[in-house]
Amino acid sequence: MQAIQRSSMGRESALFLEYRRGFRGELSDSHFDAAIIVRSGYPIISHRVNDNQCAICNLPCGRSAAHILACNGQGIPAGRTIRHTHVQDEVLVVVKSAKSPSVHVHSGAPDYSDYFTKKVVTANETNADATNRFADACITINGDDYLLDFNVSGPAQTVLAQAILSTGAMAKSGEDRKTRLVRAQYHVPDSKLHTIVPFALDATGTFGSRATKFLKTIVNSIPISGDDDDGDNELVVDDHDGGANEFAGARSSILWRFKESIVAVVLRKNASILRNYLRKMGASASDG
Ligand SMILES: [Zn+2]
Repeated sequence: MQAIQRSSMGRESALFLEYRRGFRGELSDSHFDAAIIVRSGYPIISHRVNDNQCAICNLPCGRSAAHILACNGQGIPAGRTIRHTHVQDEVLVVVKSAKSPSVHVHSGAPDYSDYFTKKVVTANETNADATNRFADACITINGDDYLLDFNVSGPAQTVLAQAILSTGAMAKSGEDRKTRLVRAQYHVPDSKLHTIVPFALDATGTFGSRATKFLKTIVNSIPISGDDDDGDNELVVDDHDGGANEFAGARSSILWRFKESIVAVVLRKNASILRNYLRKMGASASDG
């Protein structure tokens, strides 16, 4: 027997290992186990057709969970849609929980054309065009409207196993793709580019840099106070020195709490996608 550990201990990639106590519940043992299986590339797909072919979608699948998180076989993508919705809900909940007076979370999906001039499309409008008419959410910070698009990027079929082990690569490509799509359809001046926020995470739970930056902006907008006499919408630092470092430390811990809570949603949903897939695969293997 042989054990291989692919260690990825960057602060981002190992976030789930640090998971302590999110304010919306903890990771169960089975969620944590699933996260380890995904992150380590542990072989779990046993029933395959022709040695290396997914019994559900018939594409090459390998044996790690990478294929499961990307499989388009019957019923599997539904799990990813649910994951997307739950991540979106969680982000909005943590942003609201910051209770920053300069932040406002709008309800509904904002129309990009309310903000930017649409480019002239000569040929028939494509499906991609239709899906990019609305962002997922609008959040105002200090008077600026930010248009968020949530994305949990799975590995592309072509680079499946490698992508899932390269920390942050999928989130980065998800960010780039989204920004490109919006700019292809709307005139977005450089001065407004920062208001287009592709809030992307890897399917493994690693944050894209834009998502981290956006949460940081939210956390930085929370007012600071040395005492809590005058209301609860303030970041309270109980150290009497109250220096810049303590404020930075308090903000940093809020940021990590937010991120842990969002990552936990991704990991919980991944575990149910894995479970669903393995159940279907077991069923289709015994059918044959
Ligand atoms: Zn498949």
